[in-house]
Formats: sequence, structure tokens, C-alpha cells
Amino acid sequence: MQELLKRYFGFDSFRPKQEEIITHILHGKDALVLMPTGGGKSICYQLPALMMKGTAIVVSPLISLMKDQVEALMANGIMAAALNSNNTETENSQIIRMALQGTLKLLYISPERLMFALEGFLRDAVVSLFAVDEAHCISQWGHDFRPEYTQLGVLKKQFPKVPIIALTATADKITREDILTQLRLEDPGIFISSFDRPNIQLGVRRGYRSKEKNAAILNFIARHTGESGIVYCLSRSNTEKVCQMLRQHGIKATIYHAGLTANQRDKAQEDFINDRVQVVCATIAFGMGIDKSNVRWIIHYNMPKSLESYYQEVGRAGRDGMPSEALLFYSLSDVITLTEFAKESGQESINMEKLKRMQQYAEADICRRRILLSYFGEDIDHDCHNCDVCQNPPHRFDGTVIVQKALSAVYRTEQQIGNTVLIDILRGNFNQEIIAHDYAKLKTFGAGRDIPSRDWNDYILQMVQLGYLGIAYNEHNHFKITAAGSDVLFGKSTAQLVVIQREEPKPKRKRKAEASILLPLTDRPTTSILKKTVNYDELFELLRNLRKEIAAEEMVPPYIVFSDKTLQQLALLHPTTIEAFGNVNGVGEYKKRKYGERFTSLIRWALQE
Ligand code: ADP
Ligand code: ZN
Repeated sequence: MQELLKRYFGFDSFRPKQEEIITHILHGKDALVLMPTGGGKSICYQLPALMMKGTAIVVSPLISLMKDQVEALMANGIMAAALNSNNTETENSQIIRMALQGTLKLLYISPERLMFALEGFLRDAVVSLFAVDEAHCISQWGHDFRPEYTQLGVLKKQFPKVPIIALTATADKITREDILTQLRLEDPGIFISSFDRPNIQLGVRRGYRSKEKNAAILNFIARHTGESGIVYCLSRSNTEKVCQMLRQHGIKATIYHAGLTANQRDKAQEDFINDRVQVVCATIAFGMGIDKSNVRWIIHYNMPKSLESYYQEVGRAGRDGMPSEALLFYSLSDVITLTEFAKESGQESINMEKLKRMQQYAEADICRRRILLSYFGEDIDHDCHNCDVCQNPPHRFDGTVIVQKALSAVYRTEQQIGNTVLIDILRGNFNQEIIAHDYAKLKTFGAGRDIPSRDWNDYILQMVQLGYLGIAYNEHNHFKITAAGSDVLFGKSTAQLVVIQREEPKPKRKRKAEASILLPLTDRPTTSILKKTVNYDELFELLRNLRKEIAAEEMVPPYIVFSDKTLQQLALLHPTTIEAFGNVNGVGEYKKRKYGERFTSLIRWALQE
């Protein structure tokens, strides 16, 4: 098994649970596999498919997912195909012929077509196993319910001896039970991996206004030069605003939301997958059907409505296991918008509870990963050291006077103001609203001039979270002082605020350690004598360009040619012989033969004295 893993996929070792699952399937037994996105589910049925007689039938709900998987398999020299409505009928019948001949090791198929095929050619085919991908689609309770999936119970009836492996990244109990019963799995092995994604760094910024967000986003992307990422926004107009801002700064960006035509959406997705744009500014609609393994970062321009959404979106980064970064912006206006959504959703109490948990995560002063994982029912006994709270624990100070100033302003306006006017009063800003209400005459007018507006934004959000200020959602979102707030205002208790840290982390080079390995290099042989030094980063860049060139020739996404991880290994180990090239993690036999010459000659050229 180990040898096949290296030969076909180029991997040196199995990830947790993979080996166990594969052995189980090879014994002809059913299995339910719960693994997070990027956990490595595909290998669990692809490797058995290679080892068993006949064709593995993989049920998949989305054409784009099938396409990606088939491309990845073919790139490793494994015979695979997908039966779907994107093919011509001639193509489809050719595929069916190959399945009947047994030359196809894996056949991807949509559930509708499967029903059809069960009555047709599958009666004559040798089926090694059935893999039901995205198996949660079977459950009505889940978020991606697909009625066609509920017919999959017939598989066991028609093929009682063929093992079924159901795979999903959605782990809740009801869904799990639903999958087991509806697929009629027999004495199945249940394999549950940790849902932790330790390679994704988690961070939150509180109370930023759009100008500061923009600056922070540019700063963030500057640390991720050329690396793919997604900016998630709550509204279509925000996706457009952010996209325009990025373009103005020379960053290749595009938008994706439900208001675009199907063609526009497909184009955006294709451009992203093929690294033609670096950034997609999207509403939640984006990301579902893509397996791009080298998404390096996710920004939430607005807070999502629940931790489920948040974690799912964050999980689109770092599927290849390489360091990735997630940044969440959290502001009072998000809380207000999301509260409105929740109230109009018809399930107010559930959705308000979810929002509350989301907010608690955003306000966390303990390890964020612990909060996330415990929300999903997994307890870890240590801090992660890869979130902003672990790396930079919040400090508190006695903020009683600050809180009193704000509460006093609210009090003196008879609690008839919201965030913007409150800050105007504290800062002593004259504008129409202030003049119309004569707020300039208040004793607190200008009392908070020593604190910049952006910090007031942050402090006020903290006051809401600490329960000193309530928001009257049915009264134009005006602030109301709570009992706890009143105690602080009248000096009966004190208030602890978190010190605001504005400094953006310094541009950090992720590949710093390796970058110290300096590789001598001459310029292009044609431009002769000009000697220069190439370091790790430069070699990586050269390799990345070659990858892109090959991907364009073969019309597949660059990550199908090689993952970022493999490129990194190449840049680090700089193999100059095809033999050494083949030993690199991620290089299987097929890719070694196909790409060995091009990559090693580039490396040799780069290393040349
Ligand atoms: P999932 O379907 O669970 O989201 P995939 O099967 O697409 O995850 O795998 C995610 C990534 O991890 C892919 O890039 C895959 O090539 C890589 N991967 C899977 N198994 C291994 C392994 N044993 N060693 C190294 N990389 C692996
Ligand atoms: Zn942590």
C-alpha cells in the first residue's frame, strides 16, 4: 500500500486514518468516513480502487468536483472519467465502453445518472466499490440536501457484496445516522478524524471601519504576494467595493455572487482555479464546488452568521496542509445586520443563538481554536499557538472613565442615538445631525476628543459585548443603557476594557527559515555573464512559473500539476537528477517521467555557476 501511495500519488506516508480505512475497504466492508475538508478523503477510495478488480463508482453531486478529481487522477496516470451532462453522448458511450472493458479504474457519476446506469450498463460491469462523496447531501437536516441522494439505498440491494464508502466533512449526529440508515450500510466501520485544521492561522480584528479594513487587507495581501485567497462579504455591493479597491492597488481580483449570470460566475471560478486572478471577492455562494488545494488565505470582510459558516469558509484555505491564514473583521454594524437577518429568518431563537456564539468567538480572550473545536464537540487540552489570542494575549485595563463618558453621552441624549452620533458627540464633531438636535450643548460634547474615532468604535463594541449597552433593534438601533451599564455610569462598579492593538503584524516571510539557503545563480544563459544570487523565494517563483506554463499547455489548473507543497519541497531540495526529483513528496512515477526533465533542467540552470 505504501508503495502504491508513492508510485501513484507521490506521497511518502499516509495521513491519520487513511491506512486504516483503506485496509477496511480492501476487506470488502462498508465505511463511513468523517474528515474535515482537506483531510485527504479521496485517497481512501482511490487507492482501494487501484488495488481491486473492476471499476470504482464514485457518486458526486457537482460536475466541477468530478472534473477536478478526474483531472487530478489522470495527471497521475490513473484511468478515470466522469459521466455527466457536460459530455457529448459519444463521449459518454465511450466512457461506458471503457468501464465495461474494465480499463477504467474510477468512474464519477451524478446520482441521477447512477439510477439510470443501475438499470443499464452497470448490470454488466464489474464494480469494485461504491464511494458516495459529500454523503451529507442525503440528509434533509443538512445544509446541502439533494433529493436524488435519497435513492442511493438501492445500491446495497442491487450489489449486496460490493463495499460502500460514504464520505463527508459534515459531522453532526443526525446527518451521520441518516447516512448510515439510508445507504443501508452493513456493520460499517465509522472513521472520525479530528476536525482541527492546525495549518490555518486564525485571527480577528475588531471594530475596523472600511478605510482601516482596506488598509489592513492590503497589508495582509502584501504578506501573501501572488497567493490565492478569498474575501467573503455579506453583501453584493461589498464584494464590488472591495474588488475595485484591490484592482486600484494592482491586485488581480474578481467578484462572485448570486446576482451574476451563470457564465460570469463560471468565469470567475475558472479564473481563480487557474491562478489568472489572485483574489475572489465573494458572497457565501462561492467555494462550494471547488477543490483548489492552494488557497492560502481567507478574509471575512464581515462576520458570518454562524460558526458553521465561518469554519466551512475558513476551511477552503490550506487543503494541501501548508500554512494558511484566516482573518475575520468584526464590527458593530455586522452584528446589527446579522441580527436583522436572524429576526427575519423565521427561526429567530436558533439563529440568534448561533450569532451569539459567533460573536463570542470574535470576542474570545482564550485560544480561538479551542472555542471552535469545542463548538463542534471536540475538546482539546492545549492551546494552539497558531491564533492571535495565543500569540498575542489581550491585556485589560481599568476603562471605567472611558465607559462612563460614552454612557453619559447616551444618557444625556435620552438614549436616542446610535453608534455614529455617539462617536460624533464624544469627539465633538459638528454635523447636521448634531446641530439639528442641539447635541453640541451637552456636557459630554467633545469629552472624548482625546480618543480617536476608530478607537471609540472598538471600545463601544466592547461595551456592547460586556453588556453595558443594549441595542434597540426596533428603535433605529439606538443604544440603551443596561443595569450593568448604569452601575458603571454611577460609579457603583468598574469596567475592564481590552487594550487596543492597532499594529498590523509585520510582513512576515513564511518561508523565512528556508530562505536563508542561498543558491548561486547566473542570469539566463543567453544574457550571459551577469551573475546573481537566487534564494529559495526566487527559485520557488521560477518553479511556480514553470508550473503555470505546463498547466496552461495541458489546460488544467496549476495545483493539478503539482501542489504548493511539492513546489516548496522542490525549491528546498532542488533535485538536479530525475531520480532525485522522483523522491520528492508529491511526485509519483507518472509525473516523474512526464515532468522530470523540465523541472530538473530549470533547477540545474538556476543552480549553475
Ligand atoms: P478532502 O476530499 O478530504 O477535502 P483531498 O482528498 O482532496 O481532501 O486531499 C486534500 C489534499 O491533501 C490534496 O491536495 C491531497 O493530494 C493531499 N493528500 C491527501 N493524502 C495525502 C498524504 N497521505 N500525504 C500527502 N498529501 C496528501
Ligand atoms: Zn490558539
